[in-house]
Amino acid sequence: MPELPEVEHVRRGLEPKVIGEIITGVTFSDKVHSGKQNGKETIIKGIDLQTFKDHVMGSTISQIDRRSKYLIFTIENEGRTQFIISHLGMSGAYFVVDHIDDIGIPNYMNHWHVELALQSGKKLIYSDIRRFGEMRLIDRLEDARQIMAIAPEPFNIEAEAHFLEQLDLKKWQKKPIKEAVMNHSVISGCGNIYACEGLHAAGIDPHRPVSSLDEASRKHLFQALVHALEEGILYGGSSISSYRNVEGESGQMQTRFKIYGRKTCGTCGSDVQTAVIAGRNTHYCTICQK
Ligand SMILES: [Zn+2]
Repeated sequence: MPELPEVEHVRRGLEPKVIGEIITGVTFSDKVHSGKQNGKETIIKGIDLQTFKDHVMGSTISQIDRRSKYLIFTIENEGRTQFIISHLGMSGAYFVVDHIDDIGIPNYMNHWHVELALQSGKKLIYSDIRRFGEMRLIDRLEDARQIMAIAPEPFNIEAEAHFLEQLDLKKWQKKPIKEAVMNHSVISGCGNIYACEGLHAAGIDPHRPVSSLDEASRKHLFQALVHALEEGILYGGSSISSYRNVEGESGQMQTRFKIYGRKTCGTCGSDVQTAVIAGRNTHYCTICQK
């Protein structure tokens, strides 16, 4: 599943290609049409397809932001501002191409779901093999409840205080620390991979109940998680879980992992242990993490 670093790379890739473009056409795949008819809301959520089309056509893409793992496209049309909030789900990807064949990766060419024609003649295409991703058109960001509930961006000054405050809540005390750090109300954008890496870097066993960690360990952990996310951005995200950036490339971060997806610990060489915590496969080292 793309995490914060991967989504940030998608945003950075899209920005120079689509800012200032006017959307001149909207086409949906058969799966999006049939999903809507069957009440499954495939990709396009909370709005009927014709209304989505009517609102989006003729709008200019003026800004692309990221909040946690969500992309936020600001679109403007004759003084009216709206937002498309998009989540890549497990395997979503955006491409900007002249023709769908230019994507060059069969899975993404075959599984395109939304095509926005742009005034320049290019096409902004959303592809998604497993179709867990989404696009929502909203009038006000305050209406995006899923975004409003997210912790501050981890790189913002207030994020550490928020993290410490959340870990003090009663509901987390008996829970494994890994479950808490994967929750987006505690720290934003830190999914399974970066939670494993951050806990490893901080030397903390992912099973430890939150209440067993003192203030210094919690601060140390926060910094380790932020560092893991920053490194992820620096190395272009990872190629785990079929992530592709706008150029169809995967990232290099997986070569930097010390624990996630490895057989032996990148620090001490011991065998990596696995356990399921909060439904996610967790990798850790019993020598380095206590
Ligand atoms: Zn180790």
